[in-house]
Amino acid sequence: MAKYDTLLSRFIGYVKVNTRSNPESTTIPSAQREVDFLKTLAEELNEIGLSDIKTDPNSGYVTAVLPANDGGQSDVIGFIAHIDTADFNAENIAPKIVENYDGKSDVPLSADGKFTLRPSEFPAMRNYAGKTLITTDGSTLLGADDKSGVAEIMTAVEYLVAHPEVKHGELHVAFGPDEEIGTGADHFDAKGFGVKFAYTVDGGPLGELEYETFNAAQAVVEIEGKEVHTATAKGVMVNALQLGIDYHDLLPAGDRPELTEGRQGFFHLYKMDGTVDHATLTYIIRDHDKKLFEQRKQDMQDVAAKVNADYDTERVHVTVTDQYYNMREVLEKDMTSVDLAERAMKELSIKPVIYPVRGGTDGSKISFMGVPTPNLFAGGENMHSRFEFVALETMEQAVDVILKISELNK
Ligand SMILES: [Zn+2]
Repeated sequence: MAKYDTLLSRFIGYVKVNTRSNPESTTIPSAQREVDFLKTLAEELNEIGLSDIKTDPNSGYVTAVLPANDGGQSDVIGFIAHIDTADFNAENIAPKIVENYDGKSDVPLSADGKFTLRPSEFPAMRNYAGKTLITTDGSTLLGADDKSGVAEIMTAVEYLVAHPEVKHGELHVAFGPDEEIGTGADHFDAKGFGVKFAYTVDGGPLGELEYETFNAAQAVVEIEGKEVHTATAKGVMVNALQLGIDYHDLLPAGDRPELTEGRQGFFHLYKMDGTVDHATLTYIIRDHDKKLFEQRKQDMQDVAAKVNADYDTERVHVTVTDQYYNMREVLEKDMTSVDLAERAMKELSIKPVIYPVRGGTDGSKISFMGVPTPNLFAGGENMHSRFEFVALETMEQAVDVILKISELNK
């Protein structure tokens, strides 16, 4: 029998429910199916026996409390996971279970042989010899991001309710929508969550512990051209598309996502459209270093000024909007949460894998709302794709880490 015998069936039950968020929507949460799923989680928390179960009407987040049984000596801490899945087909998810994977064979996903998980393509598969893999059938993503986190937190609190001999402080849990469209945490009531610090359980493979993210902004470059007939264009036409090319060429050529790694930042042009008359270039700006991040935002304006200098009117206009910041800035001031997670992993003989994330987490925003929130591994591999998979044993170890953190938090 598995160590946590409800974990697998719980996870399978969750992933079969389509909870894809909707970037086009203006509602919060962005999709009714998220609201419905959150409602079932609230019911499950109630059945398990947690108290103070609430659904925040402003954010959609479901929160609940597991009271302390250690005499109230510990800090109140929280565990957070998101319920929505990424922008990929999530209709009729049919998870497949591969028991005792040998760590080297190809794993066919679709019956027609079109999609196969191959260690030659995904070398991380070699880390899973002897493990139970849960994969897709090739037609959808799996949704281990972040249903594994939801299942792990739920299983951990269920275990604690069933085992009162395990002493722990007060634990708060939160399940929320719309992480994948980057808006869910914006509405999260971090103060109302009532914890000293928290963890998102939303990381990847075993041991991941993240407390450093990018600083992030979006830049929209609007370019005003002057359209005239090509026959009489000389000295008159201003081609907005050409200006867009000139603008892009003035940015540092090497600072692109496909050419950078580690702590190197970038400008990423991810959308451009237009005509001679008008063009729009949309970028994201990323850097772990706050100073360099600010410099990059300034660079985008300086390049615009440079292009504009050749014209009598402002042809290029750049609007920069900050998106989120590197949570390290907050965590550095109080590393209790990170130290605790590291200690818990080490006691469980799990090697903490700490590196700067080339992205953000809900914790980046929540940390800046006053609740330091590093990110723990949840187990998923190849997230956001039909090749997504997770090992049951890694999910069990994530439950272990949650329990160990709760136990060591004194
Ligand atoms: Zn996630």
